[in-house]
Amino acid sequence: MRALVCRDAGAALAVEEIVLPELGPRDVRVRIRAAGVCHSDLSMVNGTLKAAYPLVLGHEAAGVVTAAGPEANVAVGAHVVLNWAPPCRTCWFCTHGQPWLCETAGVATTPRGSTADGGPLHVTLGLGALAEEVVVGDHAVIAVPDELPFATAALLGCAVLTGVGAVLRTAALRAGESALVIGLGGVGLSTVMAARAAGADPVIAVDVSDAKRELALAAGATHFLVSGDELSGQVRGLTERRGADHSFECVGRSATIRAAWRATRRGGQVTVVGMGAKDDMVSLAALDVFHSARTLRSSVYGNSDPDRDVPDLARQVLAGDLDPAALITDRVTLDEAAAAFARMARGEGARTVVLLP
Ligand SMILES: [Zn+2]
Ligand SMILES: [Zn+2]
Repeated sequence: MRALVCRDAGAALAVEEIVLPELGPRDVRVRIRAAGVCHSDLSMVNGTLKAAYPLVLGHEAAGVVTAAGPEANVAVGAHVVLNWAPPCRTCWFCTHGQPWLCETAGVATTPRGSTADGGPLHVTLGLGALAEEVVVGDHAVIAVPDELPFATAALLGCAVLTGVGAVLRTAALRAGESALVIGLGGVGLSTVMAARAAGADPVIAVDVSDAKRELALAAGATHFLVSGDELSGQVRGLTERRGADHSFECVGRSATIRAAWRATRRGGQVTVVGMGAKDDMVSLAALDVFHSARTLRSSVYGNSDPDRDVPDLARQVLAGDLDPAALITDRVTLDEAAAAFARMARGEGARTVVLLP
């Protein structure tokens, strides 16, 4: 079976034959039907995040269970969304209501299967989902209704869960509050969509590229701004001179975290959704931290419990209350996925989804 493999940090990506492991008693084999090209994979491709290679990319996907071990809790034929941070349900965080901080979940790379010549192979975030098939534990899949289109289902597993969770669970945004969203990739646009659905007004979307304007407005932004030195003043101009009640930083850089901080009102909330680098320091004045009375915090996987929240998101999509298909700008084959990574690195488009037969 074939998969998109990164041979080393900075190396060109290629589709390769790989060998999946035998099915364990609690494992399932999933035929992937749709997989998103997400920014955190890019961090492993370009070496920003430490990873083991050769590495099968992909962690945002949906497909059909084609085989299940004797103790697996999922039926063959079930349509499933893959979960890149399956909680163990036994650690301190899992038993204290914060399964998104599970001690064992969300490991960047895991050894699994082998290359065609029998060499070691690793998979991204326990999945390696930019592939024709995966073998994963049954706790890493979540059953969803068969009517849900695979491309939409795939996005529920990362971009949408993250964006919706940041707005509703981490920030607990209420209708009528103002929201600023900086960085309009798949997660940023999901955050815009969720803020608008929650009744935020205005919803101010910001990106470095004016090319994101139409996407932002389609996702529900009431205003679009190109980021620059004037951002804080522009946001104040749209919020009765106060600044935004909520800002969401969906880039993962100190400069944009500071921009979000400055554009937020006194007593407002800054939620960092983007994953940044370990040597990129955020500097804030001690007086400003006190005087501004702002809250700065992060949102990991949308403070979500995927087993509970993915089926809930699926219901909202089928009811017509949420339309993640608006985030998809490109639908490609597995052989075209490497080019999609290059487009994402250049900041073009929103979500590319790889469709498999
Ligand atoms: Zn992702
Ligand atoms: Zn746990």
